[in-house]
Parts: sequence; structure tokens; C-alpha cells
Amino acid sequence: MTERIFNFSAGPAVLPVPVLEQARDEMLSLPGVGMSVMEISHRSPTFDEIHKSAIQGMRELLGIPENYHVLFLQGGASLQFSMVPINLLPTGASADYIITGSWGKKALKEAKKQGAVNVAADMADSRYTRVPEAHELKLDPHAAYVHLTTNETIEGVEWQQEPEMGDVSLVADASSDICSRPMDIGKYALIYAGAQKNLGPSGVTVVIIRDDLLSRIPDGLHTMLDYRTHTQNDSLYNTPNTWGIYILNLVCKWVKDKGGLEAMHSENKAKAQLIYDAIDATDFYRGHAATEARSLMNVTFRLPSEDLEKRFAKEASAQGLDGLKGHRSVGGIRASIYNAFPRAGCEALVEFMREFERKNG
Ligand SMILES: *Cc1c(COP(=O)(O)O)cnc(C)c1O
Repeated sequence: MTERIFNFSAGPAVLPVPVLEQARDEMLSLPGVGMSVMEISHRSPTFDEIHKSAIQGMRELLGIPENYHVLFLQGGASLQFSMVPINLLPTGASADYIITGSWGKKALKEAKKQGAVNVAADMADSRYTRVPEAHELKLDPHAAYVHLTTNETIEGVEWQQEPEMGDVSLVADASSDICSRPMDIGKYALIYAGAQKNLGPSGVTVVIIRDDLLSRIPDGLHTMLDYRTHTQNDSLYNTPNTWGIYILNLVCKWVKDKGGLEAMHSENKAKAQLIYDAIDATDFYRGHAATEARSLMNVTFRLPSEDLEKRFAKEASAQGLDGLKGHRSVGGIRASIYNAFPRAGCEALVEFMREFERKNG
């Protein structure tokens, strides 16, 4: 194997090595098939088996109840910013949006093009360092749905628990923390996630949708934008990202082999704790997120100056710690440590942080 470095990229992100190895071994010929998964019909029995296994994998990992569909769509989480309101925000109704960071803002922007929205909370005043408390939410009891982002990838702010929504349908963008921990699926009406953080390559979007939402969808939508097209055709109305679904299936098996989401969660907590402890041990590093909203997937922090931050990222990269530069909108450092990111990489980062402070602090 050519040497792999520690990849802290926010997405597309690190994939499990055993998954990459199996994909490499099967690249030219799926066992017994004589063709690559990329060369076969999406309607072939071989792909059908992979597709069903991927859906089953998601169902088992997340404990998805029978009354939900699992879809594999395209267009990224970004298309869901539009599809959600197009399907679920009828004329005359209003939807609630809870904004805890950059992705939530993007979702809101698209919803506004479709209909009325109520910003139930916007954490801009905190510089997107935390999630709102229950008493800060201005929820509309008649909202068509409430939308939130379970983990804000750019700011590194994660809900520790879903807020109580009563009878209003909860819709979540879980792109960057899906399958990083157990989730009470029954609390959500719809969950969507781009695959490229925790589940596979870019180009597949997982949508988990409760059946009763389908009856709310207005008629006359463009075929590809209507969730019913995809539930009725088992995500095979048009050609899906067959390669992406194949990898996602392998990733599900890998997570299951690692002990499922409970085990994943404890490993993720341990990994994140290493870095947060290093941040808290000194004034040289300052965490961006409030302690109680700290993300297990994206650890964001600042250094005393932007100049030092630049050097930190550059020198880390030279030592095989890649992708640590924070998003251009918030600056600083961001260590994305998704499921497939090894604990040894967190240890290496902590070591580098100590050394960097010793030299520059
Ligand atoms: C990465 C990300 C997106 C954007 O996903 P695309 O698949 O590129 O459209 C949206 N929301 C969150 C929370 C993300 O992390």
C-alpha cells in the first residue's frame, strides 16, 4: 500500500481502508461477474442485490422503522434544501427553520424561494457557537415542518439531542454526523445526508422519509423533484450513482463490523476528547464551539493570530496531517474526524499541537 497520510478533510472525507481495499480488489471484476460495478446495468440482479443490501445496511445501523423509505438520490444535500420545501411546504403554510450555522442558512435561503418561513432561532449573535435552548425557540405550532442541521460542519456545532417538537414534523440535515452515533429515527419525519462525510463518496444523498409525508406532496411537481417518484421506483427512476451506492454498502458493513453505532459513538467520543482536551489544556488554543455544543465530527479552534493559523495548517500538512485549514467563512483550524478517521491521527494532531505551541507560544 502506498503510504496514507492523516486526512482531516471536511468532505469528501476519509474512507475506511478495508472499504477502499475491497473496492480496489473488485474494481475490474465483481466476484463472479466479470465486470466492474460501474459497468453493469442498474437494473441487473447483481446491482439489485447491492442496492438492497445498502438499504438494509442503513436500516439496521440506524434502526429505521418499517414506515420509512430509504432513498439514494443525487444532487447532494444541497438539492434537499430545495426538495424539502418543494414537497412539504404547501401554499399558505409556513415552515420553521432553526439556524445554527452556515448550512442551515443555505437551507433557509432555498425554502424562502418556495414559501413562507419562520426563523424559529438564529444563533448568529453567538457567532454560531451553540444551539438554542428550548426557551429560545419561537416555534409555530402550525408549521408544516421544523428544519434543523444536526451538525454544522463548518462551525463544528452539534445538537446533543433532538429538541422536542410536539406534533410538528422534524426535518434534519444530518450530512456530517449521520451514522456517527445512534439516532432516534422516530423523532424525525425526514432526514437527509450527503454521503461524502460519513457514508461514502460524493454523489449519493441518503433521504429517510416517513411514509405519511408522501400524502402531503402537491401534485404536478417535476418528476425528478417529487419524492413519490423515488419511493415508487425504489430510487431507480433514473440511473443512480451505482458506484457510490456500492461503496456506501461496504461502509455500512464496515460500521456493522466495528460494532454498530453504539461502538462508533464511543470511539468518536474518545477521539474528539483527545483534541478537545488539548485545546482546553492551554490558552494558546481556543475552541470555537461552546463546550456543550461541541461536535464529535468537526473540531474547530483558533490560535492567537491568523498568521499562526496559516503556519499551523501549513506545517501540519508538511508532517502528513492534511486538511486542517478552517472553512474560509470562519477561519481558524478545523479537524474533521469522521467515523473512518483513525484515533492515531487524533493522537498525532495532539502531539503536533503541543509541539507547535512550544515553538510559537
Ligand atoms: C457538506 C454538507 C452539505 C452540502 O452537501 P452537498 O452534498 O455538497 O450538497 C450540506 N449540509 C451539511 C450539514 C454538510 O455538512
